[in-house]
Amino acid sequence: MSDSWKKRTKLVHGGVRRSQYNEVSEAIFLTQGFVYDSAEQAEARFLKTGPDEFIYARYGNPTVAMFENRIAALEGAEDGFATASGMAAVNGALVSGLKAGDHVVAARALFGSCLYILEDVLRRYGVEVTLVDGVDLDQWRGAVRAETKLVFFESISNPTLEVIDIAAVAEIAHAVGALVVVDNVFSTPVFSNAIALGADVVVYSATKHIDGQGRALGGVILGTREFIRGTVEPYMKHTGGAMSPFTAWIMLKGLETIDLRVHAQADSALKIATALQGHAKLARVIFPGLADHAQHGLCKVQMEKGGTVLSIDLKGGQEAAFRFLNALEIAVISNNLGDAKSIATHPATTTHQRLPAEQKVELGITPGLVRFSVGLEDADDLVADILNALEQA
Ligand SMILES: *Cc1c(COP(=O)(O)O)cnc(C)c1O
Repeated sequence: MSDSWKKRTKLVHGGVRRSQYNEVSEAIFLTQGFVYDSAEQAEARFLKTGPDEFIYARYGNPTVAMFENRIAALEGAEDGFATASGMAAVNGALVSGLKAGDHVVAARALFGSCLYILEDVLRRYGVEVTLVDGVDLDQWRGAVRAETKLVFFESISNPTLEVIDIAAVAEIAHAVGALVVVDNVFSTPVFSNAIALGADVVVYSATKHIDGQGRALGGVILGTREFIRGTVEPYMKHTGGAMSPFTAWIMLKGLETIDLRVHAQADSALKIATALQGHAKLARVIFPGLADHAQHGLCKVQMEKGGTVLSIDLKGGQEAAFRFLNALEIAVISNNLGDAKSIATHPATTTHQRLPAEQKVELGITPGLVRFSVGLEDADDLVADILNALEQA
């Protein structure tokens, strides 16, 4: 693979390892273990392993390595570690390098399971956690201090789609020597410039756009070789969050088409958001690609397009939101995102149900809020489906 290759070429050819059969499509190495030619070779491999030397699939596997190398090439990261799910990736990125007495600052608007790791797991093990409003840089400045070892945020928050300034937060964090970990799911690997903007570690749930067809759970942690091999790998390989080779093959094949899919989904999302602006039944249409979004300028700097997800807030509250969801004929009611199929979600009663009422208010998760993940269907059909469902709301 050449570093000068453009994104689409890397997505198709990056990280390939061929077996002795010279197959065109990447092989699935469904094996847990690897045979050594001699006892001496086994000893040598346990002492030190190179990039093509495998021991056990919990540590690494050729199909998984192909996926890690391909996504790392796309992201511009030195290395990556693939995980069993997006949450295994978030957990690995956060927990592998922290110890009791460390301090972490994180944006408050986070995926529920990320909040659980910060507020329950890390605090239980003696890590102090401060939550801030991610778009308010003064709060980040006020929260970091000498003991701050790590900052964590979603570059676009779920489900209210606030865009966080990666470069500005990285500068604040680096001034105290903290590691910057970005959960970049909503930006997608296609539109990501996170490392160039100053992120040290980028985490994806591969379950979303990387698979893109709703089949498998997966995740990946991307960063410097030193961090991935020195800090993440020892933790992950001994705690068992490895990606399966079959999943890695699904994700590899997903990467071949991700650029085409995500661009098409983002174009449709803009078309839908534009068509819904000013609709009489909507209090708000939230989409970072719209000029009226509070961080639209920042979105244009950080990403090429506005992403593949929009949120709408129905004036009629939960009743109207439920009538809207039940009236959709193309989009399905579910909770994934980044899928080929459009998916509508009512965060207040599903993904964010667990949060206390005050916290929902604070995060803007109103009873009328519906998150809409735009799929690969015809955009005009989706607009018609949404307008028809709004009619019935
Ligand atoms: C889905 C998601 C996760 C968790 O990923 P899983 O693959 O479901 O474990 C983490 N962060 C964000 C922003 C997500 O959307």
